[in-house]
Amino acid sequence: MSFLKTLFILSFCLFSSLYAHKCVHNEMDVTLKVTGNHQHKLFTNLPLRSNYRNLRMAFDFTNIESASEYVQIYIRDLLMPPVQSFFEAALKIVPTLPASNLYVGQDTCGSFVTIPPKAWTVGYDSDIVIFVSAVYEPSAEYLARSVPCAINRLTNRPSVGAIIFNTAYIKLDMKDTTIESDLSTTLHEITHVLGFSKALYPRYIDPKTLQPLTGHIFNKTVNGIPTMVLNVPPLTQRLRAHFNCSTLEGAYLENEGGPGSFGAHFERRVFYNEFMTASDIKDARVSEFTLALFEGTGWYQADYSLAEPMTYGKNKGCEFLDTKCVNPDTKETSFKEFCSPFASRGVTWTRRGFGVCGAFKPYINPSLHSEFDYWGNKTKVIDSFSDNCPQIQFLSSFDCEDSSLGVNALLDTYESYGIGSKAFMGTLSLDDSALSEPLGFCFKPKCLKKEDGGYELSVFFGGSDGGYVNCSAAGTVLAEDFGFFIIFWERVCEFNNL
Ligand SMILES: [Zn+2]
Repeated sequence: MSFLKTLFILSFCLFSSLYAHKCVHNEMDVTLKVTGNHQHKLFTNLPLRSNYRNLRMAFDFTNIESASEYVQIYIRDLLMPPVQSFFEAALKIVPTLPASNLYVGQDTCGSFVTIPPKAWTVGYDSDIVIFVSAVYEPSAEYLARSVPCAINRLTNRPSVGAIIFNTAYIKLDMKDTTIESDLSTTLHEITHVLGFSKALYPRYIDPKTLQPLTGHIFNKTVNGIPTMVLNVPPLTQRLRAHFNCSTLEGAYLENEGGPGSFGAHFERRVFYNEFMTASDIKDARVSEFTLALFEGTGWYQADYSLAEPMTYGKNKGCEFLDTKCVNPDTKETSFKEFCSPFASRGVTWTRRGFGVCGAFKPYINPSLHSEFDYWGNKTKVIDSFSDNCPQIQFLSSFDCEDSSLGVNALLDTYESYGIGSKAFMGTLSLDDSALSEPLGFCFKPKCLKKEDGGYELSVFFGGSDGGYVNCSAAGTVLAEDFGFFIIFWERVCEFNNL
C-alpha cells in the first residue's frame, strides 16, 4: 500500500479537492532571513549518529482564520497532521544549543503571510515553523505553493517557511482519491520548504565541517537539452544503483517550464511518478530519491524505510538516461517506460489505472524544440515536463483504486475497484465472445512468490460469489463462460501491496 494511502487511512479523511495543481513555489522569491542567535552551538560532535534526533515541526494557522470553517478544518486537521507526522518520522537533525524557542521576525516571509506577534514574543518550541495561509485565486491554476523564508544561522537548515493554499481549488468533495492527491501536493510543497528548492541548493553543507557544498549543482546538456544536475553523494549513489548506471553524475532536474518548474523538481522523463516531479501526477510515490536528497543537504538523516518503491527505469542502464526516448530514425521506443503507438490505450506504469499514450490524439506544436521532435512532424505529448516522451497519461476516470468508479465497469460487479485493485487489458466480455480488441478492466490480484523468484498470479473474479482465478501462463487467463480473456500482467505483482 502506498504511503499516501496509509496517510489517508490514518487521518480519517472527510473532504477532498482537485487534481490539477501546478507547483509555483519558486515564483515566490523571498530573501532568506536567518534565525538563531550567535551563541547557538551544535549539540556535540556532528558525525555521531546518536546525536541526531527527529525533526520537530510547528505549523502556525493564524493566516487561515479568515477562510471558511470547512477549509480550515480540511487544512489544519486533515492535511497537515499526517504530513507533519511523515516528516517528523522521516527526518532527523542535529539540534543546536541553547535549546531556546524559535523566534521569527515580522517581515521574515515578505508579503506572502502575516507573521503574528506570537512569533517574535513567544516563539515556537520547534526546529522549523511553517506559516499556513489560504487565498482565493480562481484564475491561478494551483492548489498550493510554498517558500522557504529563513535558515538557521549555524547550519543553514531551513527554519521558517510558508505554504499557501488556493481555496478556489479545494473542493471538499470527500473522495479518498482526491484527498490522496492533496496530501501528495502538501508533502510536495513542504519538501520544497525543507530543502528541495533552488534558493536552498547553495546553502547545502557538508555535515562534518558545516562548510557549504560547492560544485554540487551544475548544468549539463542531456539529449541536446540544457539540464541542471544535482550531485549530492547519498542521492547520486542511490540513482546509480537504481538505474544501474555507475557513471551517472547526479539527479537530472526538470529542464522544461518556467522558473517555478525548471531546476526545482526531478525530471519527469526519468522520475515519472516521483512526487517531486513538476506537476501533479496520479499515484505519486515518495521515493528513496527525495529522502536521499534530504540527506544530501547535510541537514538531515533520513529513514529510508519510509520510502515507497520505484520501478520506473530500474536497472535500465545509462542508455535509459542519456539517449532519446524515441529513436528519431526508427520512431521506435527503446524502453517499456515509453509507450507506443501514440494515442493508443494502455495501463499506467504502476498498473493502477488506464490512460492514453502521450495524448488522446497527435497534437502539433509548431514551436516544439527540435530535440523533442521525435516523429519529425512537431507532434507534442500532453505532459509539459516529459521531454516530449510518450508515457501513459493517467485518466482519472479510469482509476482502479477509485471505488466510486466501479459503476462504470464493463463487467459490472465481476470487476473490483478500490484500494489494491490493478489495471488489466483484456478481451473479456459478458456476451460469451471475446472483444475484437483489448479494453481495460480492474481486478484485485493475489501474488504468490515462487521458488524461482517469479510470481504466481490470481485475480479475484465474479463479485460477491466469486473467487480467485489462477492466471496459468504469463499474459493469458481463461475465464470460463466469458470467452478468451487476454490479460497483460507484467509488473502486477511487483506493485502488489505497495
Ligand atoms: Zn514543486
